[in-house]
Amino acid sequence: MMSTDQMVAWLRQAMGTAQWDAETAARETEPEWSDGGPYGEGVHTQRHGSPVAVGPWGYMDDAVRTHIARHDPTAVLRRITKDRELLDDILAEKHHISDDPWYTCPAATRERDGGTYAETEGGGQCSCGRDERAQRRIRTLAEGYGWTEK
Ligand SMILES: [Zn+2]
Repeated sequence: MMSTDQMVAWLRQAMGTAQWDAETAARETEPEWSDGGPYGEGVHTQRHGSPVAVGPWGYMDDAVRTHIARHDPTAVLRRITKDRELLDDILAEKHHISDDPWYTCPAATRERDGGTYAETEGGGQCSCGRDERAQRRIRTLAEGYGWTEK
């Protein structure tokens, strides 16, 4: 079983690859992405001027053309940005801290989670549920990028 840290590293790499692909596609096809009605405006490469996905030539179903246009590089980059924000938000969740050391999560650290009774070094087993929640949410996010390991 992969650790959460390994899954996060994989996910950040996958997001970077998806971003690079979308930015490359944006440079190559801009400004031709559009679902523009029954005949569409088409998606053409800038260098070659050839259709890559859609057009008024009737060789692609409107639903397919619309689907492709809705996944244009701008939309993909917007989702990647928000997925990164979500990942950072998940990772920022703190372990439970209490004024009573008995109820402070053993995985909490003063530097990361604050609190007088958190361990200086941390490293204990999480008892507050934060690590399990984070791993589950990160796995869900990673599966959207193709993660398949359990
Ligand atoms: Zn915890």
